[in-house]
Amino acid sequence: MEEDIFCQIVARKIPADIVFQDDQVTAFRDINPQAPVHIVVVPNRHIPDVSDLTPADAPLLGRLFAVANELARREGIASSGYRLVINHGRDAGQSVAHLHLHLLGGRAMAWPPG
Ligand SMILES: [Zn+2]
Repeated sequence: MEEDIFCQIVARKIPADIVFQDDQVTAFRDINPQAPVHIVVVPNRHIPDVSDLTPADAPLLGRLFAVANELARREGIASSGYRLVINHGRDAGQSVAHLHLHLLGGRAMAWPPG
């Protein structure tokens, strides 16, 4: 298994502000937040990026979104609105090669994204 920074956070080998963890998914506050609420939701299993997903990963992907939605409710941004982002590759700004879903909220956002 790769030992990228997110694998190490999942394994609690390095510290992070973890707000949720179960047997499939870990969520923690982004160290460089881009909004008042910025939480990173990752599968515990190492998957390099969204293009590596297979049909067998459908339940896991559903779990990632369910956790993000639950955290949006907990953070009080469910009714004001939030954005869920998955970046893939260099042009999109993917910075860690471990699939992750950004939950962003707490401020108005522009469209299209920069
Ligand atoms: Zn990883």
